[in-house]
Amino acid sequence: MAARRWNSATIAEMLASLERSHGKSRYIPRFDPMDELISCILSQHTTDAHSFPAFTQLRERYPTWADVVAAPVAEVASTVRLAGLSNQKAKNIVGSLQKIHEQFGDYSLELLRTWPTAEAMVWLQTLPGVGPKTASIVLCFAMGRETIPVDTHVFRVSWRLGLIKEEIGEVKAHGVLMKLVPRELAFPFHTLLIQHGRTVCRAPLPSCEKCDLAKQCAWLKSDGPGKRQREMARTRKRSIKARKAKKVEVPGGSVNDSKN
Ligand code: SF4
Repeated sequence: MAARRWNSATIAEMLASLERSHGKSRYIPRFDPMDELISCILSQHTTDAHSFPAFTQLRERYPTWADVVAAPVAEVASTVRLAGLSNQKAKNIVGSLQKIHEQFGDYSLELLRTWPTAEAMVWLQTLPGVGPKTASIVLCFAMGRETIPVDTHVFRVSWRLGLIKEEIGEVKAHGVLMKLVPRELAFPFHTLLIQHGRTVCRAPLPSCEKCDLAKQCAWLKSDGPGKRQREMARTRKRSIKARKAKKVEVPGGSVNDSKN
């Protein structure tokens, strides 16, 4: 796919179009940094509908982070089982808490607010179970830093527009987008791309006819949505054909249930 040449001006232009479609995005801190970190570890590979109740149960059972560290890991795992992968997540939570205490002498990330963003980003990723996405969510949503958490929507819309190559994957996309997007636009970039990915540029097929970015979109220019649609239609046709040809067991023997 021929990538459009992006720069600060074209990114700003793209965000202005997104703001016209979805409204302005405003920074509102969600949790304190510790709650953000632990809830984010719990949210990996699951939905908010599962991870939020797991986080609430964890906070109700253990009033302090010291209580979580003091508890048997198996007990922590059973407390957060709703979030899935609970053994691994419990180990990561306890391991992260221990490392935070070693570094700051407390179960708190407040001192991280005094660190430069790049250093804080690197250090957070030394915690077990913390990659670039979790680290940037903590810095972005709990500390108002200019990072770009790359979730499935940000990744999909970015590669479709031609900002990044799809092959690099979500983990590497973070670094590439951080270099490309001006710092002061990082927050609206993240939130508006999520909004756009949820409502217009959806998977597997986008609604390009409703998209204000159509003129800027590399995937649309290369007929990506059309090819995807034809590919899906072929797959559907093949599976209907296979279903019709499927043999079924009937009393007295096996016959082909396709009468046509
Ligand atoms: S034109 Fe289509 S593929 Fe491109 S960003 Fe818009 S909705 Fe997504």
